[in-house]
Amino acid sequence: MNEQAVSANRISVLDEHTANRIAAGEVVERPASVVKELVENSLDAGATQITVTLEQGGKELIKVTDNGCGMSREDAVLSLQRHATSKIRDAQDLEAIRTLGFRGEALPSIASVSLLEMITRRESEPDGVRLEVEAGTITNLESIGAPQGTTITVRKLFFNTPARLKFLKSAQTELSHITEFVGWYAMAYPEVRFRLVHGGREVLSSPGTGIRLNSIAQVLGKDAVKQLVPIEFVSPAVKVEGFVSNPSLTRINRREQVFFVNGRPIKSRTIAHAIDLAYRGLLPPGRYPAAVVFVQVEPELVDVNVHPAKAEVKFSAEQEVHNAVHRAVNRALMEGAAAPAMSEPSDASGPLSVPKDQVPSRPSAPPLELRPDEREYRQGTLDRMSTMDIGAFQDALARRREEAIREVSAHDPFTWEKGAGVPVEESPVPEAAPDQVETYAPRTVALSGVKIIGQARATYIVAECDDGILVIDQHVAHERVLYDRMLRSDQLKSPAIQRLISPVSLSLSARESAIVRQRLDQLRKAGFELEEFGRDTYVMRGAPPSLKPSEAEVVIRDMIAELVDLSVARHLIVRPDQVLITAACKMAVKAGEKLSEAEMKRLIDDLLKCENPFVCPHGRPIIVSLSNWELDRKFRRV
Ligand code: ADP
Ligand code: MG
Repeated sequence: MNEQAVSANRISVLDEHTANRIAAGEVVERPASVVKELVENSLDAGATQITVTLEQGGKELIKVTDNGCGMSREDAVLSLQRHATSKIRDAQDLEAIRTLGFRGEALPSIASVSLLEMITRRESEPDGVRLEVEAGTITNLESIGAPQGTTITVRKLFFNTPARLKFLKSAQTELSHITEFVGWYAMAYPEVRFRLVHGGREVLSSPGTGIRLNSIAQVLGKDAVKQLVPIEFVSPAVKVEGFVSNPSLTRINRREQVFFVNGRPIKSRTIAHAIDLAYRGLLPPGRYPAAVVFVQVEPELVDVNVHPAKAEVKFSAEQEVHNAVHRAVNRALMEGAAAPAMSEPSDASGPLSVPKDQVPSRPSAPPLELRPDEREYRQGTLDRMSTMDIGAFQDALARRREEAIREVSAHDPFTWEKGAGVPVEESPVPEAAPDQVETYAPRTVALSGVKIIGQARATYIVAECDDGILVIDQHVAHERVLYDRMLRSDQLKSPAIQRLISPVSLSLSARESAIVRQRLDQLRKAGFELEEFGRDTYVMRGAPPSLKPSEAEVVIRDMIAELVDLSVARHLIVRPDQVLITAACKMAVKAGEKLSEAEMKRLIDDLLKCENPFVCPHGRPIIVSLSNWELDRKFRRV
């Protein structure tokens, strides 16, 4: 941008050629779009405090106050003209946009459908200015005393366009959209203090301490935050950071996935897909992790001028962004899943590192400001995190994981066998009196020093470890072990297969045959070597070495039947990893099978080597635990 041209009158009107290149469209659809545009303007103005005040979900009143750079009298007037902006000068500036706004359209569009008041003062000027606009026409302009910054008040939105007024939803619905938007910006700009007030009540506030996790906690809630693992990946062109949820905690939709590119909340299939890929095999079908992902790319590599509401972007380095997100998430999951290391609170150099931006940027950052009803924060995880106690952070994560597993086993609809995985701990630990809340009770169970006690109901392996007692579902544990092994052989390209001395012939239905043909490769990775032999007939020449040849035929038939079942629901397409999941399930020891001590030991040893020993590929819990602390507490020893 040409700073010289900016100095006298900073805002100027774009020439026709540039204006024509701007993705046109109606930016003002509802109160939330007004809030979005005004908040973006405040952020572009360098504000560190932004307060949004609403009445009636914004339908009656939207007021956005900031302490940003403010505007001169001339700029204030100009800002209401179409295509008047201080952010770009010409079409070339569109190639590398560094601000949230750039079209010079928002203020005039909003002003034309409301009663607008603007009060603004630049730091360098003694007086502020107040402007009143009615349906786009300036009706009053005067000098007044005002603090530095800008306050824009929008009353009676759409009062002169009854058709649009009619489409507005209830105040509650509009408020929820606005809360979502403001929350997103609060997460993206942790150094800015946001407040959202509706009908005199504070709906949302962010501390503005620069500690991203604190802002995220205010937005997503403290429970969600405790389940998040940090992600980070930096390549020359792309920087990815943020948080994703632990695989044992998922949602039924993507509502809790929020992506930002260069500080702008956007929808992105590329990013969503990269996350899905990283969770492949960790989640049951139809479940999604929560994710807050911040991507930074050079402004030249991303086109933000493709969507009228700037809700989508186009990457010119699409593949790189995809890779970077995938690797960031993948790494966090792999490291986060290494349970034994996670619950060693003293080991601050453990595998989970806290990303740099959790470190307060200014050492003098004010302490977390909390509303009274959130006293728990201060006593709990967050406060610890804000003081950068990495050990405590890890500890909290480990504890979270543990609770998560218990929660999954208690409520998860994907627990198919009724009764399987009911937590050992049925009655909740008695609540401590509020003034002696245990914040860091040693309730985590690290999987170290595991010793097998025996098998219960021929279904569960009971073991003790240094920190407590474990109950392990033998079937799902084995499933996890087998699945991981197949994935590994997938990478090595050399699955373990034993040649069958007498090949087995399988004649299949047309539907079965179609699925098998499509997934021969994956079946091979699972250890089954099938060859097409005439119409709808296959011969099995090899099977996994863990199966007796006599079992192999039963297992493959079971698998094919299950794949057909799954494909009916999925339009005859079976996800490649579904083959491995099914194979693992069919080959795993069943509930009700007696295991020898040696078999149990091998299974547990193998399980502990898995990347995620807590959740099976279907998403079912593998281990439930009772920590020493819980046990002692139940017996009133502590
Ligand atoms: P754009 O943001 O695309 O430039 P807008 O219509 O939203 O267009 O705003 C027009 C101009 O008004 C901006 O370029 C900016 O110079 C000025 N402006 C708007 N809001 C503020 C604010 N809160 N503080 C300072 N300047 C502002
Ligand atoms: Mg703008």
